Amino acid sequence: MKTLRSYVYGKWHQADTGFAPLVNPASEEPVARASSAGVDFGRVMEHAHTQGGPALRALSFVERANLLKEMSRALREHRDELLELSRLNTGTTKASGAFDVDGASGTLAWYAGWGRRLGDNPLLAEGDGVQLARSEGFWGQHVLVPRRGVAVHVNAFNFPVWGFAEKAACALLAGMPLVTKPATATAMVAERAVEIVVAAGIVPEGAIQLVCGSTGDLLDRLGPLDVLAFTGSADTAATLRDRPNLRRHNTRVNVEADSLNAAVLAPGTAGAARDLFVTDVVREMTQKSGQKCTAVRRILVPAGEIGAVQEVLAGRLAEVVTGDPADETVTMGPLATAQQLEDTLAGTAELARSAHVVAGTGQRVDGVGAPAGLGYFFAPTLLRADDVRGAEVVHRREVFAPVATLLPYDGTAADAAAFVGLAGGTLVTSVYGDDEDWLAAFASDVGSFTGRLYVGSEGSAGDAPGSGIAMPQTLHGGPGRAGGGEELGGSVGLGLYMQRVALQGSRPLVDRLAGRAGAE
Ligand code: NAP
Repeated sequence: MKTLRSYVYGKWHQADTGFAPLVNPASEEPVARASSAGVDFGRVMEHAHTQGGPALRALSFVERANLLKEMSRALREHRDELLELSRLNTGTTKASGAFDVDGASGTLAWYAGWGRRLGDNPLLAEGDGVQLARSEGFWGQHVLVPRRGVAVHVNAFNFPVWGFAEKAACALLAGMPLVTKPATATAMVAERAVEIVVAAGIVPEGAIQLVCGSTGDLLDRLGPLDVLAFTGSADTAATLRDRPNLRRHNTRVNVEADSLNAAVLAPGTAGAARDLFVTDVVREMTQKSGQKCTAVRRILVPAGEIGAVQEVLAGRLAEVVTGDPADETVTMGPLATAQQLEDTLAGTAELARSAHVVAGTGQRVDGVGAPAGLGYFFAPTLLRADDVRGAEVVHRREVFAPVATLLPYDGTAADAAAFVGLAGGTLVTSVYGDDEDWLAAFASDVGSFTGRLYVGSEGSAGDAPGSGIAMPQTLHGGPGRAGGGEELGGSVGLGLYMQRVALQGSRPLVDRLAGRAGAE
């Protein structure tokens, strides 16, 4: 059994006590163990402050972008190995594992290309300058500078590679050193990804450190210039936000948390848009066994069409083969941990008090290709609740599994948007239809409830990748329950790691400092 290590203060640290087991979720066999016992977190912070930060800040945006390109290449070169580890430690099929692994290299590659356009000036101009007095003798310009602190990244179990890479891309490009902490249950994949990057000698020493296991007293050490970027459950987020040092120092905290995302079918939608709706809902329920923060949890359908939609979805979900991804006939793997299965069984039972199961069983199943009684298998389960407001639990309880609930609405954009809003803030809402007036009304009604609005129509059906993909070009994050955070989205993602400064002075001087020399 492998013992995972942490990469801290320039060396690989192996604990000798306090281990948590990591298992293959298809067989329940132990595959590794992890512990951060013995890590000196004071030294971790010191190392990032004295080595990683200065080294990164000495590089230009273009040079930092080149680091990302090399990281992307290194991960791509080890793609097969990472996919195999993902199967072993997280129970993913090749397609689901690729969503994580390729998502990581793709995000790094996109930020590398985009970052190279930011140039060589240490201060990054943001938006247009503005005249502040009667002449250009007093001019203002917002600029961004790297924060002289440490970024601590705490990630969820479901995206061990992408979670590391998407946060690292923004922090490193901004010029901030980072400490990444994967969820312990799936840390085997993240540990290997960091090991690949470190072994390739790509990033300056101290720019990336890795903690496998608990964060010890690391978070207590964060101060005014540091950043905590957290992805995980809303409950954990709430406890982390409340830490006295983070509040006292106004430490930047970004949270990506739970989300009860909705897919909405506009009335009378037919043809390619309707087909896309069905394909997307089935994929977004079952990819990574439904363990995606962007997965569809609620499906809103005009009341008169709900019976027909239920029949089609139930038929498609019945085709999903749940089992050990080592078996080539399997299209959906197990849940990642025993805890996940336990939460899913309890959560589905809670939903079933306000909704009824119309596809699947809501129970553990034996997996194809797996020994009877072993493995955390749960087949796709569709529920239906006809009293949308009465089914309060459907808008409150995130069952992090291939589970979603069908809900009827009256066909108006206002009704659909209000129901989406009952969850108190989501990462993504998807809507399908071709009636532009209806879609415009929906977009304006639903906008404040969601971080991303994915519109499936005849025009997008050929290209749309599915609502679950968090793309680096556009925002990932959502209001309220979804954490209120903002990641990715080009410059949006960089903002977390940079200080915005209002630069004021004579225009030529301000332009020169902001790298805008020669600007009109
Ligand atoms: P979790 O239990 O909240 O754990 C998330 C991370 O927090 C893990 O690395 C965990 O480490 C760490 N953690 C827990 N308690 C901590 C503490 N007191 N101090 C420091 N770190 C602590 O969530 P999860 O089960 O891994 O992930 C599932 C949840 O994440 C779902 O609710 C999902 O919606 C959400 N999620 C959101 C996004 C997004 O982008 N919005 C993406 C993916 C997942 P250990 O593993 O060592 O306990």
